Amino acid sequence: MRSWVGWRGAAATATTTTALLALSGCAHLPACPAHGGPAWTELTSEHFTVRTDLDDAAAFEVIWELEETRAAMLGAVWPDAPGPPDRVPVIALASSRELSVFVGPRIAGFWAHLPPLPASMVTGGYFESDRREVLHHELAHHLSRWFLPQQPLWFSEGIATFLETIRYDRERQQAVVGEPAVDRYRGLRGRRMYSASRLLAEAHPDAEDMGLFESTSWLLVHYLINHRGPAFESFQRRLGAFEKSPDAWSATFGDLDASALTGTLDLYAATGEYTVIRVPVPTPRGQVLKRPMSDAEVHAARAYMYTLGKLAGAPDSGAQVAAEIDEAVSRHPPGPIEALSVDYYFLRGHAKSAYRRELAQRASQAHPQSPLTWLMVADAAELADVKQTALARALALAPNDAEVLTRMAVLRASSERWDEAVTFSRKAIRLRAITPQVLTIHVLALAHTGQCREASFYAAGLRTDAAPDRTVKAKWPQLREQCERMATERAKAHPEP
Ligand SMILES: [Zn+2]
Repeated sequence: MRSWVGWRGAAATATTTTALLALSGCAHLPACPAHGGPAWTELTSEHFTVRTDLDDAAAFEVIWELEETRAAMLGAVWPDAPGPPDRVPVIALASSRELSVFVGPRIAGFWAHLPPLPASMVTGGYFESDRREVLHHELAHHLSRWFLPQQPLWFSEGIATFLETIRYDRERQQAVVGEPAVDRYRGLRGRRMYSASRLLAEAHPDAEDMGLFESTSWLLVHYLINHRGPAFESFQRRLGAFEKSPDAWSATFGDLDASALTGTLDLYAATGEYTVIRVPVPTPRGQVLKRPMSDAEVHAARAYMYTLGKLAGAPDSGAQVAAEIDEAVSRHPPGPIEALSVDYYFLRGHAKSAYRRELAQRASQAHPQSPLTWLMVADAAELADVKQTALARALALAPNDAEVLTRMAVLRASSERWDEAVTFSRKAIRLRAITPQVLTIHVLALAHTGQCREASFYAAGLRTDAAPDRTVKAKWPQLREQCERMATERAKAHPEP
C-alpha cells in the first residue's frame, strides 16, 4: 500500500521537541574558544549551514545525515515538487546539557523563525540516544511548512513525529518511511490520549501536555496516512486553499467527529495495521565547505541562540544576549553581522531608533555584502528614497529573500504602484512568505490591477488569519466589485484579438 504517498503535490513559528527525559543536573556552557573552550566550525553544504562545537568527524557526519534525511523526506513524501530553495541554518551543540543553557531542560531541539533572520534549527547532543530523531523532526517541520505554510498544530506535529523515524539506508540507497515511533507509542499505551476535541479545535496544549499532544498527533497522522490516504490528501488541498482546519476536517472526515476519532485511535493503537515503505533515493553528492569560526562569531551565535530560546519558551535572557553581543563586538569591532542584527531587531534596537541607525551605519561599513545590512538600513530609514536604495541593494544580493521582497511590495503599495507591488508580493508568496501583511498587500495589488480571481483566492487566506489591516478583510466584497469593474474596463480598452 502506497496510496499515502498520494501526498505528493499537495498545495502547498517556533516549534519545539520535548525531551523524553528531562535532564537533571546543572546546565553547562563551555568556555568560548578564546578562553580554552572547544573550537567552533561552520560547515556549508548544498542545503545546510551547520555551526557546531562538535569535532570535525562528528560535524561532517551531522551535515551528511541532514542532506540524506532531506533527500529521503523529499523523495518519499513530496517527490514531485522541488523543496525549499534556501539553505537552512543549523546550530548543533555538542551536548544536550549545553543546549539546556539556552532553552531549559525540557527541550531537546527546536525550529524557530525570527524574521528577518532565516528560520533555523537548533539541537544539542546529536550523538546522544534520541537526538537524531529530534533533528529529523525539526527538518520535517521546515519542509512541511514549505509545502503547506498554514497548518494546524496537530498536523504540524503529526507530520514531524511521523517523519522522525525516517531512515536513509546508504547501502541500498533507499529511504525507509513509516516505521512507528516506538517511544511515543509506548508512552500512549495505557494512558489517556490527548483530547481529540481539543486537538481538532486547534487548541494549543500547555507545556506539560506537549509530549502527549505530539504523541497523539503522531498516532493520528500515522493512522490517516495508512488508512485514509486520499482523504488526507484532499484535507491538505483544502488547507492549501486557505480553508479553516476544522471546516476542512469535517468536509473530509465527516464520519470522524471528536468522539468517533477517539474510538478509532484507541482501536488503531491496539490493533492497527500499517505499512513501512522503501523508496529509492539517490545518495546526495556535493561539496561540504569548512571554515573555523572566530571567537566573536561564537559569541554572536550564542546571543542568537538565547534569543531563539526565548521564542521556544525559555525564560527571558536579555542580560545574557547583551553580554554575548558586547563580547562579540569587543573581540572584533564593529562585530559580526549576526551580533549587530540580533541587537538591532531583538534587543536594544527594538525601541530606540537612534541606536538602530547607529547599528545600521556600523553594519554598512563592515558588512556591505550582507543583505541583512541593507534590510537594517532600510528599516531604519525615514525617507522613502533611502529605503528604496537600501532595499535595491538587498535585492541585488538576495533576489529570493522573502523579507526583502515583502518590504519591496510594501514600499510599492504605499506609493500605489500596484503593478510593481504585485510582482514583489507574488514572488514573496511563492517563497511561502504567507503572512497577513503580504496577503493584504497581494490582495490589494491584485484588486487594483484587475486580477480579481487571484485576489479572491488570497482574500480567503486573509479570512483565516489575523490580518493587520482589518479594513481590507471587511471591505473585500466592495473591493471585489471595484476589481471586476476595472477588469471589464481593461478588457474593453484592450480587446483580445
Ligand atoms: Zn514539532
